[in-house]
Amino acid sequence: MTEPAPPTGRLAPSPTGLLHLGHARSFLLAWWQVRAAGGRCLLRLEDLDRSRVRPGMAQACLRDLEWLGLDWDGPVVVQSEGLAHLRGALDALLAAGALYPCVCTRREIREAASAPHDEGGAAPYPGTCRDRFASLDQARAHSGGRAALRLRVAPGPVPFTDGVLGPQAMDVAAEVGDFPVAGPDGLVAYQLAVVVDDARSGIDTVLRADDLLGSTARQLLLQRALGLPSPRWFHVPLVCGPDGARLAKRADDLSLAALRAGGVDPREVVAWAARSAGLPCPEPLAAAELIGVFDLSALPAGPVSIDPAAWDRSPA
Ligand code: GLU
Repeated sequence: MTEPAPPTGRLAPSPTGLLHLGHARSFLLAWWQVRAAGGRCLLRLEDLDRSRVRPGMAQACLRDLEWLGLDWDGPVVVQSEGLAHLRGALDALLAAGALYPCVCTRREIREAASAPHDEGGAAPYPGTCRDRFASLDQARAHSGGRAALRLRVAPGPVPFTDGVLGPQAMDVAAEVGDFPVAGPDGLVAYQLAVVVDDARSGIDTVLRADDLLGSTARQLLLQRALGLPSPRWFHVPLVCGPDGARLAKRADDLSLAALRAGGVDPREVVAWAARSAGLPCPEPLAAAELIGVFDLSALPAGPVSIDPAAWDRSPA
């Protein structure tokens, strides 16, 4: 039997705010997973959504990841520097008749530019513009120049297997509808960008927090439409605050920068993440020291709750 090729994974932070303990846990797990299998780990800065990117955050992300003891192979991939590839994918989808122009609901289209971590409850797009315009030019003429592009989604469930959660199926047509792959300003949406850039970098293993589980079927549909391979997906439970809500980037008191400034040893963060993932780690350790004990099957199901007081190093 031939050994499976070592995996290629990635860390894909969006430089829209400070990284916090939740990001640290997902990134450590993603890194351990590929490093434990002798694989490569790339770093991609997902900076397409200029309205949400904040100055200095790209450098802050890199500093935080290095502080955690993570490293990556090759140069940092900056998503906004690969626009020609994204444009090429849009053109291919358009030529195949997989997309149609849409001139409605600006808000929904704007929201499509970022990874939808908390889109619960949004109504599916009703298909208002499906078969409405003969061409993109016609749609633009109708709207005064701006038209988004949506993927035609066939009805029925989209099954896939998640390496943590097992068999999944999402009926994208019923739950989301035809979804935007480019906004009215031409900005390529998160869903398409992530698919194109993962394929371009040869990413075959994606481990991320399970608030992006709902995006996976959409990404799979785009991979199929573009004739791209799908990676193996692993969605890990989120880290929540004491109120049970997911940590937001605005939870700045639990940001890695604040912990560092407060005197927290990065090895304590590593040990917390390891223990929360079911790995033996009785004392603070460097990230690299846990590669040998990494075992994703030890990961407990369910969200991880964090107690901010446990990270407060200020004198009482
Ligand atoms: N950059 C995305 C985010 O920070 C994650 C992309 C992904 O893992 O698919 O939310």
